[in-house]
Amino acid sequence: MNSHWFAPLIFAAAIFGWLTATALPDVVWLDQITQLLRTAFFSALKMVIAPLIFFSLIAGVMQLRASSHMGRLGGVTIAYYLTTTGIAVLIGLIVVLFYHPWTAFPPLVEDPSVLGDLTTQSARLIDPGDGSTFSLLSTLLQRMLINPFNALAQMNVLGILVVAILFGLAAAITLPTDSALPKIFDELAQITYKLAGWVLTTLPIGLFAITFQLAQRIDFSTLAALGQLVGVVFGATLFHGLIVLPAIAWRVSGKNPLQFLRAVSQPMVTALLTSSSAATLPLSMRTAQEKLGLDQARSAFVLPLGATANMDGTALFEGIAAVFLAYMFGIDLGTTGVIAIFLVAMLSSVGAPGIPSGSMAGMQMVLLAVGIPLEAIGLLLLIERPLDTFRTAINVEGDLVGCLVAKRFA
Ligand code: ASP
Repeated sequence: MNSHWFAPLIFAAAIFGWLTATALPDVVWLDQITQLLRTAFFSALKMVIAPLIFFSLIAGVMQLRASSHMGRLGGVTIAYYLTTTGIAVLIGLIVVLFYHPWTAFPPLVEDPSVLGDLTTQSARLIDPGDGSTFSLLSTLLQRMLINPFNALAQMNVLGILVVAILFGLAAAITLPTDSALPKIFDELAQITYKLAGWVLTTLPIGLFAITFQLAQRIDFSTLAALGQLVGVVFGATLFHGLIVLPAIAWRVSGKNPLQFLRAVSQPMVTALLTSSSAATLPLSMRTAQEKLGLDQARSAFVLPLGATANMDGTALFEGIAAVFLAYMFGIDLGTTGVIAIFLVAMLSSVGAPGIPSGSMAGMQMVLLAVGIPLEAIGLLLLIERPLDTFRTAINVEGDLVGCLVAKRFA
């Protein structure tokens, strides 16, 4: 999606929806038409989400065989990426555990069932049980280790992720090197990308309808709560980008935080301005070689992998945003829900493409995993542009710290 018309469209729909709700409360047909468009858009999305996650993940894991051939460099880089992404989501979740100023405002929707079965069918998948560690583990395991057909049919995202990863790993281990299956799965993934592409051509209509409908409910307190979300995400992201990542860089390379931030400032500013890790990649490569002293062969592996799979800022944002949206849409997460957010936010940040708003598709997985209505995305879209800028800068910074880690250990 071209990001230039993204913000104007959302704001036009929000203002149009708000104006009609206040000035023309009796005109029902506008409401009915946008309701219909919103339903059609969500149904089409739901048609593609489960097969898309399933096939693309299996194809991706099968391809891991290629990177495992890279031996030590592959192992060190992947371990570093997973660890720092995990730390980032954890920071986000710990921050919202203690600081969630938006709970001073009423939720947007007290009872999510009013939004209809379409958007809440997975809400019942989270059963907090009696709240003990044992029932928590048992619920999580039941959701993760599930018959693949049930997982797909119920859109149990956690189940689909686990089944696809295990299936892909088993295939990668057992198949002979000349097997045709990885190619077949790759082609199936390409078909689901195509289908998703068709659905996404209706994105402007879908977004307009969702925002129009949401705007009828949004009032000043929702906007204030959104402002607080921006503040909390901003603070937690700065903490990760100015303290955690520079500390790792210091530890592995001896460069103090100031030296490190100065060395990587060019790609970070570019990421901030383009909101795209992929677009920043050429500059990150040059910086890694000229300023961080990583050779060309290693930077050619570490950075492209990082630009697609290592997104600390994105993972942190998804964790905080999911907890915020759960509150706004009246979903009680419980400990099981928070753990599900941790796991799915990590995985979906790995799968997000390094383009502006690339994580919005993965964000839907996080919402589905804990039963938050998909239309909650509409609320995030109102603040998406400014947030994307600095989370992308932190994504790129994380990749560059990865270069120092690779230089030291691989
Ligand atoms: N814009 C981000 C990136 O390119 C992805 C996202 O979080 O939407 O890294």
